Amino acid sequence: MRIRVAAVLLAFPFAACSPLGGAGPPDVLLVVVDTLRADHVGSYGYSRATTPRIDAVAAEGAAFEVAYAPMGTTTPAHAALFTSKEPLGLGLVRNGLALSEEAVTLAEILGRNGYRTAAFVSSYPVSRRFGMAQGFEYFDDEFSVDSSRVRDPIWEQLRVEGGFDRDGSATVDAALDWLETEAPASPLFLWIHLFDPHGPHRRPQRFEDFFIGPGMSRREQIIARYDANVRYADEAIGKLVDYFSESRDWENTLVVIVSDHGEGLFDHGWQFHNRTTYEEEVRIPFILRWPERIDASLRIEQPARLIDVLPTVVSALDIDAGGASFEGIDLMPHVHRSVAPDLSRPIFLQRPYPAAKAGAATEVGYGFGVRRGAWKYFEAADEGRRELYDLRGDGTEQSDVSLDSPGRADAMSALIQEWRTRQKGGLAHSVLTPRDKAALEALGYGESPSR
Ligand SMILES: [Zn+2]
Repeated sequence: MRIRVAAVLLAFPFAACSPLGGAGPPDVLLVVVDTLRADHVGSYGYSRATTPRIDAVAAEGAAFEVAYAPMGTTTPAHAALFTSKEPLGLGLVRNGLALSEEAVTLAEILGRNGYRTAAFVSSYPVSRRFGMAQGFEYFDDEFSVDSSRVRDPIWEQLRVEGGFDRDGSATVDAALDWLETEAPASPLFLWIHLFDPHGPHRRPQRFEDFFIGPGMSRREQIIARYDANVRYADEAIGKLVDYFSESRDWENTLVVIVSDHGEGLFDHGWQFHNRTTYEEEVRIPFILRWPERIDASLRIEQPARLIDVLPTVVSALDIDAGGASFEGIDLMPHVHRSVAPDLSRPIFLQRPYPAAKAGAATEVGYGFGVRRGAWKYFEAADEGRRELYDLRGDGTEQSDVSLDSPGRADAMSALIQEWRTRQKGGLAHSVLTPRDKAALEALGYGESPSR
């Protein structure tokens, strides 16, 4: 391993000859908080104290006010984040499929530019089995059955190997142990994935005392428990921030905080995610912080997407992406206010078909959405559904106006069709093994729909 890293440094002597002047290339800390919806984050206007540590990071940098995941589904959203490609073009349109090794990832690009790369993840959908370790020198996806809150033996028609998830605090402790033991030199790319806001929720008693009050409805209690688990993940982020501030060059650390999707919390009758393109499932926090290069307390109007993270990090670091193509945009000109925001940028969205069958990797039966300006449109042709919302007066998508504005609905449908025709590819592959198939048949899952 030492030889390989040395060879990389010789080929790409970024660390020795930085284009950034005296400070040298920064460490890059990417934190993905699974299932964290934007409007439950303090710096995005939430009334409860769910995220004091995330808010402190946001106050030192830039927050994108309007940011979206491509779909409310974990593995496709992470694949889009790491490749700057749409899930549809990757062929990774539902959980249970793996990112192709042909894809070029953020970790690979940073590794080729002299970065040490390490990841510590908290749940099975982002484990190495689904291609998420691509480009990482060190990848920790160790979950035990005992550590897991999710205990189902089958997930997305796959037999779960070992445990499913772990506590965010344990994930951060594993990362801190590695940092202490390995003492990796800068520049380092560290990806931390936290799963705590994802159900089933634990009951961190002290937060529950804080968030749950007398006389709450069942729905209010579910939301309070979600919030308590967001706060739990926020504490884990606090431990990371404390370590970086005490032991590494925190001023010269580029921090990216995002989530992979939101959570229904019954805004449209559904508690969880992976089912709709409504705001609560796809609006995410997106925070960029690097005191050396990014001003503090910025609120950025430019609509942003998860697929923008990769080109934005490449631009911020001024590194060579090796000819990799991106579907996202470089957001740094918007952070530096050198261009006007493009508020009419289309934001494309999709949702998996609720009854996708094992092995299906096509878009048949799926639903698609687009937001442009204040308008948000969704269609599911197989179900004869189309919906149009004006977010200016209806930010929670309660009043479908597609029958009042058929011309606008048609135009937005045409945008989706044009976008879909550009999404060719389908690189993802099924990871269903003969052992999975045998296990599924033994459990009677053979012909049943996925959860
Ligand atoms: Zn997720």
